[in-house]
Amino acid sequence: MPPLGLASISAYLTSRGLANDIIDCYAHPDSDELIIAHLLRERPAFIGFSCTTSSFFDGERLARLAKSTLPGVQVVFGGVHVSAMQEKVLEEYPVIDYVVVGEGEETLRELLATPAGQRDAVASVVLRGADGRPFFTGRRKELLDLDTLPFPDYAKLAGYPQAYTLPIFNYPKAPNASCLSSRGCPYACSYCDRSVFKRSFRYNSADYLYRHLSFLRKTYDIRHVNFYDDQFTFNRQRVADFCRMVMDAPLGMTFNCAARAEHLDFELLILMKSAGCWMISLGIETGDEELLAAHRQNPDLVMMREKIALIKKAGIRVKGLLMMGLPGETEASIKKSQKYVYSLPIDDFNLAKFTPFPGSPVYRQIKEAGTSMGTFHEDWEKMDCMQFQFIPKGMELARMEELFVDFYRAHFQRPRVMWSYVAMLWKSPDSWLRFLRHLPSFIRFTSTNKRIGKGK
Ligand code: SF4
Repeated sequence: MPPLGLASISAYLTSRGLANDIIDCYAHPDSDELIIAHLLRERPAFIGFSCTTSSFFDGERLARLAKSTLPGVQVVFGGVHVSAMQEKVLEEYPVIDYVVVGEGEETLRELLATPAGQRDAVASVVLRGADGRPFFTGRRKELLDLDTLPFPDYAKLAGYPQAYTLPIFNYPKAPNASCLSSRGCPYACSYCDRSVFKRSFRYNSADYLYRHLSFLRKTYDIRHVNFYDDQFTFNRQRVADFCRMVMDAPLGMTFNCAARAEHLDFELLILMKSAGCWMISLGIETGDEELLAAHRQNPDLVMMREKIALIKKAGIRVKGLLMMGLPGETEASIKKSQKYVYSLPIDDFNLAKFTPFPGSPVYRQIKEAGTSMGTFHEDWEKMDCMQFQFIPKGMELARMEELFVDFYRAHFQRPRVMWSYVAMLWKSPDSWLRFLRHLPSFIRFTSTNKRIGKGK
C-alpha cells in the first residue's frame, strides 16, 4: 500500500512552495542508508515520520539516526498512533520535537512556515513549552475542502505503481493502485481508532474523483484502483454521479471499495457494476450477533446476508472483513462466526487478530477493566493484527491460534472456494502469475498462522 497520506501532504507542501521528498521505508529495506544520504545531501530543516502503532519504534529509531546524522534537524511525527497518544509521545521520546495530530496537510505547512518561537500558535500540534513540558495546541477548527487538494504526488514514490501492486486475487488487472477519495467515518465501532479524522466524513466530489482516476490512467496507465476509503458509499449521490460519469466517458479501469452494508442498495450496486466495480469489502467482523452488538452499531446479520446477496446479484465480488479475539469472544462464538461466514456467498475474506489500538474506545475499556475482560500485552511492535496481543477472558493463546488456523484452512478446503481460485486464472491472470512466483512463501503461510493481505 503506497503511503497515500504522505503523498498528499507532499503535493500540498509543494503547491505552497515548500520543497520536500518522500522515502518509503516499507518499500526500501535500505532506508537507513537512503535517509542518511538524503540528510547529508539536502540538509533539510525538518524530517517527518508517519507511523502506525507497530512501526512507531522503527520511526523513533530512524529519528535518532537522523538527529545523530544532522544535529539540529527538527523531528515531526504524524499518523494515527501519535494522534492517539499526543503529549505522551513527547514525554517519553525526547528525540521527537513535534507531533501533528489529525490530518497533516495544513498543520504541517503552518508548522514549517512558522518561526521556532511562535509554533505554539499552530493548531493540532503537540510541542514542548518553555518549561520543557509537552502540551497540545488543540484541534484545528477548519479543515481543508478535499477538492482543493492537489492529487497525491505519486511521482515521489520510488517504483510506483509496480512497487505497490495490490495483494494477489484482489484485482483483475495490472498495473493497479490504491487511492483515497474520502476521509473519516461517522460510526463508532469499539475497535476502530478514529484519532485522525474523528467521526467526520469528508469526501472528494464525483468530478474530482473522475479527474483523479483519469490522471492515474493517463500518467501511470493504471487499470484498476482500490479505494482505501473507510466508507466509499457513505454519500450515495456522489458515488452514483461518479458511476454515471464513468459510464458516459469510460476510463478503461475497474475498482474495488469498502462499504458498510447499510449504505448499499441494488440500484446503486448496478450503477457501480456498470462503472467497473470488481469487488466490495464489507466489515462483517463476526458472525456472532451478540458479540457484534457489544462492539458496533446495527449488528444485523440478516441484513448483512441480504446485502451480500444483492452485491452478488449485481455481479460484484464480495470480500468479508473479519476479526477474531474481541473482548467477549469464546470458542463458541468463533465456531458460530465460522459457520455464519461459510454460509455466505462471499468470494474471499480477511481474518484479522483483534488488536486494541490506542485511540480505539475498546483500548480504554480494556485498560480500565484490568484483567476482567482478558489479558493484554501492550507490545506496540507486535500490534499489527497478525498477532494476538489480547486474550479474551476464558480463552488461551494456543487455542486461539489453533482456531485461527482452522478458520482459514477449512475455508481453503471447501470445493466452492477452491473453484473460485481456479476461476481466477481468467478473472485475474496476473494474480496467478504472481502466486506461482511466490509459491514457496505461500506454502510457508499454510503451515503457520500468518494471514494473507491486510485490511480493506
Ligand atoms: S470499523 Fe469501519 S464502520 Fe466502524 S468506525 Fe471504523 S471505519 Fe467506521
